[in-house]
Amino acid sequence: MTAPSVALDPAVAGRLEAGDPLAWTRALVAIPSVNPDIEAGGAGEAAAADFIGPYLERWGYQVVRHEPAPGRVTLVATLGNSATGLALCGHLDTVGVRGMTVAPFEPREVNGRLHGRGSADMKSGVAAILAAAHAAASEASSSGLSVILTADEEHASLGLRHLLDAGVRASGVVVAEPTSLAIAPANKGFAWVRIEARGRAAHGSRPDLGRDAIRQLARALGRLDVLDGGGRRGLELGPASTPPHPLLGHGSLHAGTIEGGDAPSVYPAGAHTVIEARLVPGQDAADFLARVEEFCREVEADEPGVTLQVKRGMIRPAADLTPEHDLVRALSRALEQEGATPRVEGMTAWVESSWFMDEGIPALCFGPGSIAQAHTADEWVDVGEIETAARVLTRMARSWVPGGVA
Ligand SMILES: [Zn+2]
Repeated sequence: MTAPSVALDPAVAGRLEAGDPLAWTRALVAIPSVNPDIEAGGAGEAAAADFIGPYLERWGYQVVRHEPAPGRVTLVATLGNSATGLALCGHLDTVGVRGMTVAPFEPREVNGRLHGRGSADMKSGVAAILAAAHAAASEASSSGLSVILTADEEHASLGLRHLLDAGVRASGVVVAEPTSLAIAPANKGFAWVRIEARGRAAHGSRPDLGRDAIRQLARALGRLDVLDGGGRRGLELGPASTPPHPLLGHGSLHAGTIEGGDAPSVYPAGAHTVIEARLVPGQDAADFLARVEEFCREVEADEPGVTLQVKRGMIRPAADLTPEHDLVRALSRALEQEGATPRVEGMTAWVESSWFMDEGIPALCFGPGSIAQAHTADEWVDVGEIETAARVLTRMARSWVPGGVA
């Protein structure tokens, strides 16, 4: 581990050493970690990871630093010999800062809200994890606890994919994404599909020669209405009578980007769109792709001279841990012990708990801050929620025994 590169006021250093979650939130917001694949010039996660690592080592953790791509650092810190216990997981990267109306890396507290990029998503969550890691470090019952801090969650999950492919495991995972302290055992997945239309360029006065790629692309998009009533109802990939998911409702669909054509007086030779489906558990990305293919073949059959090519983009699985699972029950109990009323809700956004679930590792989200504040121009987190999350995660870290919840 390299030494911390940030010069610290001794009083601040003391609070960090003692695992103070507010001091940690401020310190992490002040270390830029914009995902460079989201915003050019972004710092990446290395400085944040290398700042945190030595603290975890001093607290007694074995820290392994992974670097799946240059500058994209992911940490796994384990207490005891093997990561067979609870894992507390968070991502170190943030989205970009363009257009922000608050100073992104100068955390400021106003009326109980701490502002800055990543304050909600999810440096306060990482801070609550570190507070719990510190509090649990000295206790034998916490043996097997691990802290997983990932790179690149906001883009392609380079960090967590690398760890899971390398065999990192746990018996249960809490991902401290912003849920406003709700327990979120289910989340939506998504699928990106690109449609490329090819026509033939010609002078606007020569319909005999031109083939209009844009209008054919529009026809394909129009056919998607069959799946969701033109956006007026939920996405249906199977039988229309499929009941909504109890925590997530229905899937949905939108056209995220569209581009095409060269000039008003020219028949467009090319146009493309990327459509996104947000899928609830039970909805399969392959079914969505198959329907899009079917619509494009129909349009092609009607319009000779135009081709519509369907390309599969990023696909992320939905996740659905039963609300009866030990992890949900243990978190509920910890919240009650902290005087809070447990709430179980669905997470609309895709989150890395899905990757754990995909590997058969029970995982859910629970953390401070609201997803409504994530990625916003004046991102903030409720300071009280950070403290509550830290105390609840501390109870989890001390008491987690899979299958052992009364
Ligand atoms: Zn996040």
